[in-house]
Amino acid sequence: MSKVFLYNTLTNKVDEFKPENPPEVKMYTCGPTVYHYAHIGNLRSYIMEDVLERYLNYAGYRVNRVMNITDVGHLTSDADTGEDKMLKGAKREHKSVMEIAKFYEDAFFSDCEKLNIKKPETVEPATGCISDFINVIEKLEEKDFAYKAGGNVYFDTSKLDSYYKLSNQNEEELKSAVREDVDVDENKKNKTDFVLWFTKSKFDNQELKWKSPWGTGYPGWHIECSCIGMKHLGETLDIHCGGVDNIFPHHTNEIAQSEAFVGHDWCKHWFHVQHLNVDSGKMSKSDNNFLTVSLLEEKGYNPLAYRFFCLQSHYRKPLLFNFSNLDNAAQSFDKLLKRLNALVKEAEVKLEHELTDEDLVIEPTEEPTCKFDEIYAMYKAKFEEALGNDLNTAQGFTVVYDVLKAEICARAKLRIINDFDKVFALDLVNQAKSLSDNAETGVDDEKTEFILKKIEERKAAKKNKDFATADAIRDELLGMGIELKDTREGTVWSVVK
Ligand code: AMP
Ligand code: ZN
Repeated sequence: MSKVFLYNTLTNKVDEFKPENPPEVKMYTCGPTVYHYAHIGNLRSYIMEDVLERYLNYAGYRVNRVMNITDVGHLTSDADTGEDKMLKGAKREHKSVMEIAKFYEDAFFSDCEKLNIKKPETVEPATGCISDFINVIEKLEEKDFAYKAGGNVYFDTSKLDSYYKLSNQNEEELKSAVREDVDVDENKKNKTDFVLWFTKSKFDNQELKWKSPWGTGYPGWHIECSCIGMKHLGETLDIHCGGVDNIFPHHTNEIAQSEAFVGHDWCKHWFHVQHLNVDSGKMSKSDNNFLTVSLLEEKGYNPLAYRFFCLQSHYRKPLLFNFSNLDNAAQSFDKLLKRLNALVKEAEVKLEHELTDEDLVIEPTEEPTCKFDEIYAMYKAKFEEALGNDLNTAQGFTVVYDVLKAEICARAKLRIINDFDKVFALDLVNQAKSLSDNAETGVDDEKTEFILKKIEERKAAKKNKDFATADAIRDELLGMGIELKDTREGTVWSVVK
């Protein structure tokens, strides 16, 4: 296993990542609240968590990852005030909460698939774990960390010595950040206490309710992640992930109740992804004008160009989204694919199936310029230096471009880049392959250039919702015997047989 250094929100510095029982890594990810589509900001977090998982695997670890699906208990303020998000979704669409949850969970994983985000081994909806929540809350009550007030059960944050240990910020500042404007909950003994179980719901029309020792009700949001993590990964986690907005109160509360329950440290490493912002601020579901993967597709973008865009910047820096930034990234991505396409041709790789190292055997005649093992080891070391140092994906691409420029044979370049793509998951060689399939049609270079230009024009027309022009371009090419097909990897063309 190679060493991996990652920023740790708990210690406020870059730490060497040391799981308890290597090579196993117990990783927990806060899943989506399924009352609406995930926006591309949420998906930035999931892309970077996916890169983390893939890099840990690349470095020799075996990641066991668990994700919850929040289908109950999450209120609009993240604390215990505001509307219930699921109920809000159900009302908006005149459907039941469970219908909404199923629809948006499916939509979430379909977006993940388009972005090559691997589905975690275990995915668990909160509504499937009610008895686990009840058991933990009962134990917290027994240990005197929980109290009943006004019909609800609350966690008593004053019972802990270090409630703020994750956020490690000025306590007063955080206290004032706890919103005081809406629905101050008079039942709480301390401002930072939070609900473990609601029975005296302020939502009389709450659809989902379960029997409990405290009366019929439903769980708070924070308890679900602690319980689902413990249910599948035991009393400790190696790493816990989420977006930075989760640090307080959500992850702070997860730590409070988990450590009160298990009686020792719970998770040593906390990984947080900074926000995707738009000009007006953080992209957020409650804004309603948020962007989705489907919208990007409608505008003619390959979802993987968005993944590429995210990988160009560091996960701990806020990322500004606008279409001009995305266009720049999409162009660089296209250029990269074209360079790989040229390599695929040069390497004369047979391409009937996914590329493997066997397709890229380096002939003895190529050896003088291409001592593969040595060269691979050198670039791999550079790649690990970038990714192993707080997941510096942008620097990882610098190594890719170094490989492209290197004085080595095409097969060696493809093999090395294909290896790095285990982490980037941009499907690089397959995408280049589909470009190359186009190139194997016997159409000359000049005509190919014309076709590619027309495809670009059509993409721009679609982006501007000028579908008449887009259709006219398709027909023009068809008139020349060229057929267009829109695929996950973008538009591909072929000669009509
Ligand atoms: P939610 O579905 O609201 O529970 O959020 C799902 C994940 O997306 C959480 O890990 C959030 O921290 C994260 N998230 C929310 N907004 C953004 C954003 N604008 N940029 C990046 N991540 C975000
Ligand atoms: Zn969570």
